[in-house]
Amino acid sequence: MARTECTDRVVGGILASWRYDISGISPEMRKDYEQHFAECAHCSARQKFHRSLDATLAVLTSLAVFFFLFALAVLKHIRPVEHMAFNVFGLDVADTYHMLVSAGIAGLVFSLIALALVLTATPAPSYLSGITAEHAKLIEERLPARIKALRSR
Ligand SMILES: [Zn+2]
Repeated sequence: MARTECTDRVVGGILASWRYDISGISPEMRKDYEQHFAECAHCSARQKFHRSLDATLAVLTSLAVFFFLFALAVLKHIRPVEHMAFNVFGLDVADTYHMLVSAGIAGLVFSLIALALVLTATPAPSYLSGITAEHAKLIEERLPARIKALRSR
């Protein structure tokens, strides 16, 4: 990222304190800040960085939820884990199973909390739905004319 300077330190300071998120303020107030983002390369770069950070966090935490669900599903349906624990490590089968399930549930709960925090504390949901809408529009534009004709019917 190139080192740039904010063109308006006061507005830049306010935006920085909001993590460059203006989705929560009223549309009339937003106009001035949008104007600043359009004029100031520094702030618009920071905004992009923070929104991609939010999106990354949201994706990572939802992946964590998915992996813990997967781990629990594996524990429920596959028994070789128990055999390995019993034969290789000499652990008690029931104890090991309960330990792994508890770890899986704890991880699932923890990652669900993390995901909820990310989704409530950051503008990631609106940012991600914005990206999704943009992609849908792009895909629709690329559709062959025949399919487009079908859709408009
Ligand atoms: Zn600025």
